[in-house]
Amino acid sequence: MIDWSEKLSSVVQTLKPSGIRQFFDIVATRKDCISLGVGEPDFVTPQVVIDHSIQALRDGYTHYTGNSGFLSLRREIARYLEKEYRLSYNPEKEILITVGVSQGVDLAFRALLNPGDGVLYPEPCYVSYDPMIRLAGGVPQKVLATAENDFSLKAENISSVVHAGGVQSKALFLNYPSNPTGASIGADELRRIARLAEEQDLIVISDEIYGELSYESEHLPFATLPGMKERTLLLGGFSKAFAMTGWRIGYACGDENLIKSMTKIHQYSMLCAPTLGQIAAETALKYAIAERDKMRDEYRLRRDLIVKGFNDMGLKCFMPQGAFYVFPDIRSTGKNSMQFATELLEAQNVAVVPGTAFGDSGEGFIRCSYATARKEIEAALSKIAAFVGG
Ligand code: PLP
Repeated sequence: MIDWSEKLSSVVQTLKPSGIRQFFDIVATRKDCISLGVGEPDFVTPQVVIDHSIQALRDGYTHYTGNSGFLSLRREIARYLEKEYRLSYNPEKEILITVGVSQGVDLAFRALLNPGDGVLYPEPCYVSYDPMIRLAGGVPQKVLATAENDFSLKAENISSVVHAGGVQSKALFLNYPSNPTGASIGADELRRIARLAEEQDLIVISDEIYGELSYESEHLPFATLPGMKERTLLLGGFSKAFAMTGWRIGYACGDENLIKSMTKIHQYSMLCAPTLGQIAAETALKYAIAERDKMRDEYRLRRDLIVKGFNDMGLKCFMPQGAFYVFPDIRSTGKNSMQFATELLEAQNVAVVPGTAFGDSGEGFIRCSYATARKEIEAALSKIAAFVGG
């Protein structure tokens, strides 16, 4: 008998399974459950993207691409970032096509970190940051971005964690608008964070996968702040704003030295991002911007509906500025996050994610995705109100 605990990587053995997946394994076993759980658009990928992709298969696009991805796609992304944010990247040297933002995160940590290097990141946060930092040999240094600060990351909170405990902080990871809270970071605070990044010589990795889903004001990529482009790696993707989760395409834009190092890892571990996904992504940028905007406008309506619904039933709910999540406060019910989610599922067959899936600081909250039809949201809200009221 092999003793696998002796054989498997000790880092992997210390990783906890994703709280979201664990919960949804239970949900998958239930019939007629209304799910506000998954962070995935209910929209189908725009038809023009599907049609072009089918044609591309017929035309024989079934082979590898170059390691960095199609140059035509990188050029299209460069044009897109220039047009949307007046950010300019050289498509030949400063853009890498990745397998979703997920792979961009992984490559960034592996390219940057030496054993023991610290990475500052906001919490509550998307489930992959802490494990990916650990897998790359780094030390996660969480900075709280909690309800007291409208879930927004503050420069002063980063300051209090930078180099804490003798860990040398090398990078600052940002995610705004945020999963799971939908919070963004205001322009003044971004400027304070930029000053700190400069003072502390931090490389900034900015996961802006929800940038296009900003409802209150224009999204401000971190790389657009004065002096920040050279020290920022911008991670963007197609999964959310273009309803393309299954196509698995993202992009990383940054200094050519960093992109070159990430490409080195990518060429050995992945070869290239999926060819069909790359064709789909290029089509989306050329022909599906209006569809993207229509979906964003629908999410905004759903956001208003769900925030009002929670506040009306007495669960205080922060108004998110972007993404497609709300993070209502359930502390007034006297239940913890896991109890609330489990009992709600049992009693009303409605699935939400316990806030603790996004870190300990998510205790007392639940995450609800509104990437679900308004009818479903309305039905879920009345069931949650019955649960809370009863
Ligand atoms: N970053 C954040 C904040 C996310 O919420 C997600 C998915 O939920 C990802 C990255 C992964 O995205 P992708 O599908 O591009 O790998």
